[in-house]
Amino acid sequence: MDRRNFLKLTAVTGTTSALAACGNPEHTLIRFVPDEDIEPGIAVWKPSVCPLCANGCGLTVRVMDADVEVVRGSQAGVVRKPVAKKLDGNAQHPSSHGGLCPRGQAAIQVTYHPDRIAQPLKRAGERGDGRYVAISWDQAIGELAAALDRLAGAGRQQALACLVRPGRSQRRTLVDTFLSRFGAPPALSPELFGDDVLRRANGLSFGRSQLPTIDLARARFVLSFGADFLGTWNSPVAHNASYGEMRQGRLGVRGVFVQVEARMSQTGASADQWMPARPATEGILALGIAHVIMAAKLAAAADAGRAGRLIDGWSSGLPEYTPARVQELTGVPAARIERLARQFGEIRPAVAVVSGPPLGHTNGLFTALAVNALNALVGGVERPGGLFFMPQLEAGSNRPARTIGAVAGEILGASASPVEAVLIDGANPVHASPRAWRVRDALLKVPFIASFGSFLDDTSVLADLILPDHSFLESWVDALPESGSLDPIASVAGPVMRPLYDTRAMPDVLIDVSKRLQRPLTPALPASFEAMLQASVERLQPGAADAWTKATEQGGWWGAARSTVPPAEPAVTRTVARTEPAFDGDAGEYPFHFLPYPSQAFGDGATAHLPWLQELPDPLTSAMWSSWVEVGTETATKLGISLGDVIEITSPRGSLRAPAVVSPGLAPYLIAMPMGQGHRTYTRYASGRGVNPAELLGAVTEPETGSLAWAATRVRIAKVGEKDGSLILFAGGMREAHPAHRL
Ligand code: SF4
Repeated sequence: MDRRNFLKLTAVTGTTSALAACGNPEHTLIRFVPDEDIEPGIAVWKPSVCPLCANGCGLTVRVMDADVEVVRGSQAGVVRKPVAKKLDGNAQHPSSHGGLCPRGQAAIQVTYHPDRIAQPLKRAGERGDGRYVAISWDQAIGELAAALDRLAGAGRQQALACLVRPGRSQRRTLVDTFLSRFGAPPALSPELFGDDVLRRANGLSFGRSQLPTIDLARARFVLSFGADFLGTWNSPVAHNASYGEMRQGRLGVRGVFVQVEARMSQTGASADQWMPARPATEGILALGIAHVIMAAKLAAAADAGRAGRLIDGWSSGLPEYTPARVQELTGVPAARIERLARQFGEIRPAVAVVSGPPLGHTNGLFTALAVNALNALVGGVERPGGLFFMPQLEAGSNRPARTIGAVAGEILGASASPVEAVLIDGANPVHASPRAWRVRDALLKVPFIASFGSFLDDTSVLADLILPDHSFLESWVDALPESGSLDPIASVAGPVMRPLYDTRAMPDVLIDVSKRLQRPLTPALPASFEAMLQASVERLQPGAADAWTKATEQGGWWGAARSTVPPAEPAVTRTVARTEPAFDGDAGEYPFHFLPYPSQAFGDGATAHLPWLQELPDPLTSAMWSSWVEVGTETATKLGISLGDVIEITSPRGSLRAPAVVSPGLAPYLIAMPMGQGHRTYTRYASGRGVNPAELLGAVTEPETGSLAWAATRVRIAKVGEKDGSLILFAGGMREAHPAHRL
């Protein structure tokens, strides 16, 4: 299908023909958009929840009657029915405020994608070759239940592993409940750019193991250490709204913003000052600033409370972190440190934020604790204009018990895989994990794999059984965001249209499987996912008869909860000293630090199958539909590299080639690449397109959390060819010049 025809499909037009009645009862039951609500030619707007990241932004969906291609059983045809036409932000939603990021706008293509899996499938070829045959839902659920019965019959329930998308939700709670009642370990959420180091640090510094909400709207000085909060990190939709307030929403007050990072991100491009510091030294810079603030008596050590007491030397004013010494270690001039520190110590309210590359090193926890202490010193915690921790409605942590790398290591290290069955729900660790972890090789040793995904991707293509989920627009959907607002949020919404295909909602399939097990789960799972969501909302407002109706009408529940999870306040039993970072690769052989970074369009690659996002120009380079390597201007000049030249980039783990983009916003010791492309399998739009920088990464981890130190690999580069047209720039002459980019 070419792009023009794809757009035709997404416009949901077509000729009308008859379709025989559907034999599947849930396809005739629409709970939230009764057909009688829809008049031909008249649009209605229905709430939903964006499923494309853990923020769960509120959506409104424009629904209209249209002729659409559908599959019922094994029969395809065209019927007239209400369908989703357009997604917008839900103006009532307290974190998205009516906004959506580009991924949210493109989420509608999940439903109408031409490569969406339309019915249950069973593997018919070799693992990974993508050959499947269609089977009935009865057979698919029976085969999954039989695989679980085999484990339970052998007393091997612990040999079940479940890989799920990141984020808190009732859907995740249902999965964890299923696993715990079955006797399996908790689910894993594999994430290349996970935030577990920051959660751990926030737990130690503030008693809250979660991401913060930044009160940008009331801040007068924001000092960010690597946090791309306007682009890809945490709640960019909420941040963009409050950032506008900070810069232009107050008469006569324009907040100051300084960004510390060695590669200019989309957020850094908006800053008043962009300040590169050597990789893995950002914590030292934070303590250097704290040293000056304390020495100038702009704040006292005790003001930082417990966050300060965690840092070695804090109570004596951090004598090792003089501006001169910090300059030696970070490369930031001492005079600039002194000036920045005095300004940051004087202007209130001020807030320091940390995320991104500074935490992707083996010393990431030290860096996060150092910035937390600096932030507490200037009063930037739980005060207007500072960081807040959104009250949590459900206990639980996103911190996995094990990483996917550790699990893969256990599988590869044993003669017979200790993991005997894997369930996959929205995770693609074969693509988004370092080659050094050999996740694909490990999964190939697992006897049984089932996927609930809507698409064949690098991981689900290894599945023996595929039980395809409804799209989020066809099913009940929810999210329990951990940040993005000062008040707690439970985003929840019902289906806005009937399913197009012979798919079923994953939570309800899990409930059905639980009923088919030879040893039923005790207690049983809820009767349906809808019933579970309703009970969860009614628990938030006991006695309020209209709580559920109101939540489903507005797209969720928010406000002051009767009860939330209290902060944990462990005693400070140790102090943390500066640790030297470790890197994969010798500095002599591999002179550059390598920085893979989340793409604004694709994150770590999960949305690369959506053609609107392939078509989205990168905000800093304008590149699209392709991979590229960013080289700093100074380095490019030295090595004779120009825009579009083919670069070979080599780490101790391997090599790959991609065209160069020469960037003035990149420090000379750094080479950067966006994540997202380089999928082996991920629909017609992403398969075989570009290269995957995760293949270069070493297996280095932050020791306390076991998280991947994704910014700790070193590389060398060489120019190996002239411009070959493989780089596509928006409105540039290079667009579609290369045959690989023609659809
Ligand atoms: S930040 Fe973007 S991708 Fe994430 S939930 Fe919101 S709109 Fe969706």
